[in-house]
Amino acid sequence: MATPKSVEIRGYQVGFGDCFLVSFVYSATDKRHVLIDFGTTELPPRGTPRKAGKASEHMPQVAAQIAKACGGSLTAVVATHRHADHISGFGTDGKTGKSGETIRGLKPKVVLQPWTEDPEAAKDAKTATKDSLRSPKSFVGGLTAMHGIAESILKLAESRPSWMGPTLQKELRFLGMDNISNKSAVDNLIAMGSARGATAVWAHHGSDSKLEDLLPGVKVRVLGPPNLVQTEKIRKQRATDPDQFWHLLAGPPSLRAAEPLANGLPRDKSARALGVPPEARWFRDRLQRMRGEQLLQIVRALDDQMNNTSLILLFEVFGKKLLFPGDAQIENWSYALQDAPDAEKTRALLADVDVYKVGHHGSLNATPKKLLWEDFKHRNKSGSQRLVTLLSTLPGKHGKVANKTEVPRRPLLDALKAETKLSNTNDLAFGKAPTFCYQVEITP
Ligand SMILES: [Zn+2]
Repeated sequence: MATPKSVEIRGYQVGFGDCFLVSFVYSATDKRHVLIDFGTTELPPRGTPRKAGKASEHMPQVAAQIAKACGGSLTAVVATHRHADHISGFGTDGKTGKSGETIRGLKPKVVLQPWTEDPEAAKDAKTATKDSLRSPKSFVGGLTAMHGIAESILKLAESRPSWMGPTLQKELRFLGMDNISNKSAVDNLIAMGSARGATAVWAHHGSDSKLEDLLPGVKVRVLGPPNLVQTEKIRKQRATDPDQFWHLLAGPPSLRAAEPLANGLPRDKSARALGVPPEARWFRDRLQRMRGEQLLQIVRALDDQMNNTSLILLFEVFGKKLLFPGDAQIENWSYALQDAPDAEKTRALLADVDVYKVGHHGSLNATPKKLLWEDFKHRNKSGSQRLVTLLSTLPGKHGKVANKTEVPRRPLLDALKAETKLSNTNDLAFGKAPTFCYQVEITP
């Protein structure tokens, strides 16, 4: 049976975002390429005066580089979750300079996404009833509604009420932008998955990725996200905290019974005039009464919730293990590593991971220290035994040093540097002649 001779991994400079091309090399003429995510919410600064790079200029260039590296054809596209910093590049509108058209032209045979992106499930979620607030489908509806909420938050941040300081405005804008719906990218992913000869796959813990038939000699495991039959945890994440998003999502009893969030919501002409999407109108009033940290907590909870729908993939090839967890946070991880019937087996499997794509751009809660990091046997090894880590990040965009939430989190970054062989997109140049990616080769 054919087995890859090596694996090439390219980590592209997309600022705050992820974009990895994983190429399984069978021979000089047979390479099979899997693109894992392609998105950005902010590019590094360039020029004088220093200004953030433009996605509409940069992303088409990255897409062209990907097309060149894969010789015009992709075996698969993986979109780990619906955040803009992972999928915006799949958009076909002007925002990212139609970079998604280039990717669609590479005709991926499989388009792999988490189960929460199944368009049928999303459609059903709109018919939510009182009871279905408990059902998995209304969870999907809730995720969809979040995009409306994110849009309201973004509008509020843009208008900057007098009580909103510049720091809060900056963070709300950034988180809001990450969570808006990105319809063009979502539509293009659906189009690629339903193209002739292509298969769309919506995966959950333990399900078939459909990649193994296309990648002989490679074992591909889907470790996350769990679906809601497997665990209620990702939904319950904030439900018990009265100040948090999921409590508000359910709303006060009167509102909840009459009009659940996923089901239309109260009509409000003035809100419509403001361009607030219908599914977020009731929320708008609450937003406008909220202040500072409270508002930020809700937006952060919303952001975490979407991160916990992230695919976690483990590739095994010639005895080496490559782990790509997207932005999965602790609630998503804890199913695979603690609660699943095969959790013990999974922990043993992951202990000797050779390549680790650092979760969530190096944030504090995406690389579980006790459950994952401390188990990695290849930390502190030398030569080809040393753990290879891949980071895609842009400092200064997410969280704050003062409350130890900065991304990338300094102690994690220090540990990655000290104990592993780290490649970081933030070390790539981004100037007149951008260096588009770092490249790592994995051999048996
Ligand atoms: Zn991300």
